[in-house]
Amino acid sequence: MSIFKKSEEKQQNATIEEFREMINSVHLPNHVRQIADKEVDMLSRMSPSTAEYTIGLTYIDYLVSLPWNKRTADNLDLGRASKILNERHHGLHDVKERILEHLAVKILVINRKPRVLVVDDEEIARRNLEHILTKEDYSVTTAANGVEAIGKLESSDFDIVLTDLKMEKISGIDILEKTKAKYPNTQVVMITAYASVDTAIEAIKLGAFHYIAKPFKLEEVRTTVKQALDKKLSTVSAKGSILCFAGPPGTGKTSLGKSVAEALGRKFSRIALGGMKDEAEIRGHRRTYAGAMPGRIIEEIRRAGSSNPVMMLDEADKIGQDFKGDPSSALLEVLDPEQNCSFIDHYLDVPFDLSNVMFIVTANIADNIQEPLRDRMEIIEFSGYSEDEKINIALQHLVPKQVREQGLSDYAPGFTSTAISRIIHEYTREAGTRNLERQIATICRKIATEFVHHKESIRNIEVTPEFVERFLGPRKYYLEVAGEKDRVGVATGLVWTEAGGDIIFIEAARMKGKRELMLTGSLGNVMRESAQAALSHIRSNAALFDIPADFFENHDIHIHVPAGAIPKDGPSAGATIAVALISLLSGRPARRDVAVSGEITLSGRILPVGGITEKVLAARRAGVKTVVLPLKNKVDVENLPPDVTKGLGVLLADTVEEIIGKVLTK
Ligand code: ADP
Repeated sequence: MSIFKKSEEKQQNATIEEFREMINSVHLPNHVRQIADKEVDMLSRMSPSTAEYTIGLTYIDYLVSLPWNKRTADNLDLGRASKILNERHHGLHDVKERILEHLAVKILVINRKPRVLVVDDEEIARRNLEHILTKEDYSVTTAANGVEAIGKLESSDFDIVLTDLKMEKISGIDILEKTKAKYPNTQVVMITAYASVDTAIEAIKLGAFHYIAKPFKLEEVRTTVKQALDKKLSTVSAKGSILCFAGPPGTGKTSLGKSVAEALGRKFSRIALGGMKDEAEIRGHRRTYAGAMPGRIIEEIRRAGSSNPVMMLDEADKIGQDFKGDPSSALLEVLDPEQNCSFIDHYLDVPFDLSNVMFIVTANIADNIQEPLRDRMEIIEFSGYSEDEKINIALQHLVPKQVREQGLSDYAPGFTSTAISRIIHEYTREAGTRNLERQIATICRKIATEFVHHKESIRNIEVTPEFVERFLGPRKYYLEVAGEKDRVGVATGLVWTEAGGDIIFIEAARMKGKRELMLTGSLGNVMRESAQAALSHIRSNAALFDIPADFFENHDIHIHVPAGAIPKDGPSAGATIAVALISLLSGRPARRDVAVSGEITLSGRILPVGGITEKVLAARRAGVKTVVLPLKNKVDVENLPPDVTKGLGVLLADTVEEIIGKVLTK
């Protein structure tokens, strides 16, 4: 028994020793090192057979494996970045431009002459410092006392403040606090006589970068200021507003994020916020919790192996709906440059500096992101693609990628653009290119298997429209608008959903009843209210539309929007509902190939709506010939790229009356 115990003890000692060596071998920041040492000491006194012992070992292992001080150097070559973005992505000019601007601002901040404020009440010291630093090509400003210094800090910002510690009235500590309160990134270096080194150390605890003892050595001043500047720049280059890519699925948000990482020479990682149910998934579980694990943020940092990756937080508009705990507080902290330098994961329980991470958030609809979070972000809109764009993206990017991935590089089949066009029309119905890519992948796979099985040559294959049908089977989608007759009481509308724009058909029917308005088809509250408004407007203006004034007497009206499983909401169906009703009540059929979108007021005016590009693209996908949009969206309409509106009539209307003239047949 005792022999057994002895060998167990020996084993434990060996393990503890191994851990101490591991801690020694990596460069940990002081506060982390202290915790690691303390944990190992505790474990050395613990029985290895306890669960806590194993948990403790796992924890230390984790702590040591994090890239506390590791970071990749940023590549700030704008030309190279632009080349990478253009090579990887077709189109998206505005988006690319905004990203390059974002990088340019960082480069500008980093490349300008660094500004230093020297504060010392001793003239000789002040002049000396000014001389040394000016020679190092800094732009130097001096102040002879605290009051003067504070005045200068008020009127402009500095990268570095070099301040004497002991001064009358306003001390170096006061200046440190003032500076840090106003410019948290500015680094403050204390100058001190030997006698006050203790106070200087105190100042470091308060946030000073370092101290220089008087009489100072030239070299020490140079290196300390240089290091302080590096620190300031490293935080600045990582900071700046957080980018939010918003748009329908498959429009290139994720792949562009990856390219940004590549352009900057940073690691890339991605966290899906969409499926998250618990705050602990972001922040981790406390170690006392059985099976505790770190949160996804820290785990992704560890996986990336550097503390400054580009981290994509996907689907920020999908959190909060079924989330346990307080998601906003956790995410707000992660995304707040003021707070995220000391992000605490519950499992780690030691602050980790996230301020060097470049966060890119994605969402389908930016408006659905919680407001405090949205306020932190610079929103960049991605819209759906026109058919021409999809064909280009497919031929230049998706086909080569799938040919590679399906192992066909040596026998690369050629796709004709008519084949791609057929896939787009008959096998996909989407704003982005996800399904298009999937269908291309299927074709490539089938080419590989079919031809390998039948030992036929797979060289020089050209995928034509006939091939598409052979490989993908019967068509999946038809133009919703074509081949159907114009009907009384059925109007075509356009809505904006998370997946991009979509076409809807609103149906209205009237029957004997008790003046009730029935609404069916998974309609949200806003859409129900629009229907009420449309009905009231028509009732109060019946004569205007050639409708008998008493049409509602002893009748019910039923409005239905088919595809009932899909929840629909938003004000932009108001005008379409009005068209369906007026068509029904006046007996004039509504043109099926004219689609309407607009919010309606009680007085019959048409208010502007969002998602114009998405709606127009959806109209074209469905085979609509003409769209009628609010006059107040004129600017959006004028800004539509020509290939989005190609072959489509776009009309503007300011009132229900104007719309009716364009949609109802005589
Ligand atoms: P999202 O993140 O918006 O859902 P993805 O980035 O996953 O979209 O894009 C889906 C696919 O389409 C990827 O293979 C991507 O490379 C491709 N893609 C989308 N837009 C473009 C584009 N403009 N140029 C090249 N490829 C694109």
